[in-house]
Amino acid sequence: MNSNNLNSVIALGTGTSTGIPMIGCKCKVCTSLDHRDQRLRTSILIETARGLKILVDTTPDLRTQFLNNKISDVDFVIMTHDHADHLHGIDDLRPLTFGPPIREIDLYCNKKTYESIEHRFEYIFMKKDPKKHPIIGGGIPRLKLNIVEPLKDVTIQGESFFFFNYPHGHGETMGFIHQGMAYIVDCMEIPDELLAILKKKKIHLLILDCLQRGAHSTHLSVDRSFHYINEINPERTGLIHVGHDLFHRELLKLTSDQFGKKVFPLYDQLKLFY
Ligand SMILES: [Zn+2]
Ligand SMILES: [Zn+2]
Repeated sequence: MNSNNLNSVIALGTGTSTGIPMIGCKCKVCTSLDHRDQRLRTSILIETARGLKILVDTTPDLRTQFLNNKISDVDFVIMTHDHADHLHGIDDLRPLTFGPPIREIDLYCNKKTYESIEHRFEYIFMKKDPKKHPIIGGGIPRLKLNIVEPLKDVTIQGESFFFFNYPHGHGETMGFIHQGMAYIVDCMEIPDELLAILKKKKIHLLILDCLQRGAHSTHLSVDRSFHYINEINPERTGLIHVGHDLFHRELLKLTSDQFGKKVFPLYDQLKLFY
């Protein structure tokens, strides 16, 4: 049980797909000494009021994120989409399944992501006959993929979620609401029908994609993020998936000028309660 009986969320990573600093980049943000400008790939860990730990996405930085935050177990994982920066650390879930006792971890995603992950990580999910191919050595992570239906109340291990999909470049991303916390990353736009639903829900905390100042073909820019914050009107909003176009303090100035303390950029290892 959480000490104060609230749900909490830790920003395990707040950066765009390359991570910040980007390898080889000498720009002012990538060489900044402000720890808030050093951003691992975007991921969060929810700890529910009942004490369940829910990981959202398995980034290539997963191992570092778990060590930095002293995380050694999760109850289940939600996968937003199949892009490398959200998925390619999946094998690092392996130590969590070692036990004792040996366990299997459930992953939840939409149908498209299910099919893509199963295909791309064939060695994990296309199970061979264990008699002919016993797991030897360090083995494979024992993971189980599950599909969740969008736009319905879904209960997973006693926690209720409302999942939804929205466009992200050629594909789509799955966002969700858990107990008034809405998570919307890797978003090109929020379609009108979905926006109408989000406006009706009471959102206490919104975690929203915000890549850079200028327009982008697959992500929300500062202007577009601010537009959706005004539309959805949550109590608080944390911005995530930020690139090397923006210093943390610059984005903080933009949010405070427009929204006061209600909107702010997240930074790695920041913990919020909801
Ligand atoms: Zn991403
Ligand atoms: Zn993406």
